[in-house]
Amino acid sequence: MEPAFLSPHFCKGVGINLINFKNKDRINLCQVVKIRLLPGSNYKKIVEFLLPGMPKAVEVKNLSKSYGNILAVDDISFDVEENEIFALIGPNGAGKSTTLRILATVLTIGDGSASIYGLDVKKEADKVRHIISYLPEEAGAYKTLSGISYLKFMAALFSDDKSKQKEFVDMAIEICGLGNRLKDKVKTYSKGMTRKLLVARTVMTKPRLAILDEPTTGLDVVNAMEIRKIVRDLSSQGMAVLLSSHNMLEIEFLSHRVAIIDKGKIHDIGTAEQLKEEYSAKNLEEVFMALTRK
Ligand code: ATP
Repeated sequence: MEPAFLSPHFCKGVGINLINFKNKDRINLCQVVKIRLLPGSNYKKIVEFLLPGMPKAVEVKNLSKSYGNILAVDDISFDVEENEIFALIGPNGAGKSTTLRILATVLTIGDGSASIYGLDVKKEADKVRHIISYLPEEAGAYKTLSGISYLKFMAALFSDDKSKQKEFVDMAIEICGLGNRLKDKVKTYSKGMTRKLLVARTVMTKPRLAILDEPTTGLDVVNAMEIRKIVRDLSSQGMAVLLSSHNMLEIEFLSHRVAIIDKGKIHDIGTAEQLKEEYSAKNLEEVFMALTRK
């Protein structure tokens, strides 16, 4: 194996302080016994460097998908890191749901390739399904079941092991925050309550990647904020999250990085801060306008 070297330039860029190796031009990684991460260090780049073979949570390369003569997704590429909240943002019909459905293995891939933690979504779809969870935009819960019965029913689909099922349900109860209302039938729930139940169902199995299509659409400010908090908490516990939204302002505060998509094409990818700076914009809506006017 080739020895890995840390150059002073790289260390400065990502925020590593090399103790006792300050004056060397290149440091053989095998020699580094102690490094200190500086405040604000870019740990993702550091991990990427130290573990170059680690597959990303999502890798999409030159993906295209047509429905008849409608080109819904047009040669897009992006990746998502472990622990990252990554958002596809764009207007209606931009190709967001099509992309998410392909990654969730419910829609076949057109051209290009896509993998989840190194598993090919086409060739290894069964394995992919074991490590992801998908919340479709139009998902519903069984209305004649109580919230708790719905969660138990769904937990039993994921595992035969009773203790695992209980673990899933307990986690969902905590996440959804519906308390006593879980005893009531789903048909008595508001839109926000149903969505929270569904988000909890989606993540209760602790998937390595949660794919959430418009998780807060149609919700009031309070419910939307609660769902954003759930997503953030999960990401801080190690889950990668890929979501879509056409609410550019809310996504700005939720996601680590965003891809701006319109008419099937990704126009740019970056953190909200990077994109705002690049396009001299006050918010992501302005970035979007600047990008799609070109
Ligand atoms: P929205 O925000 O409105 O949900 P979106 O960004 O998720 O939109 P998609 O649902 O992926 O966009 O749609 C992308 C394009 O593909 C649109 O032109 C849409 O009409 C078309 N499309 C999506 N699903 C189908 C389908 N099943 N059959 C034919 N065309 C479709």
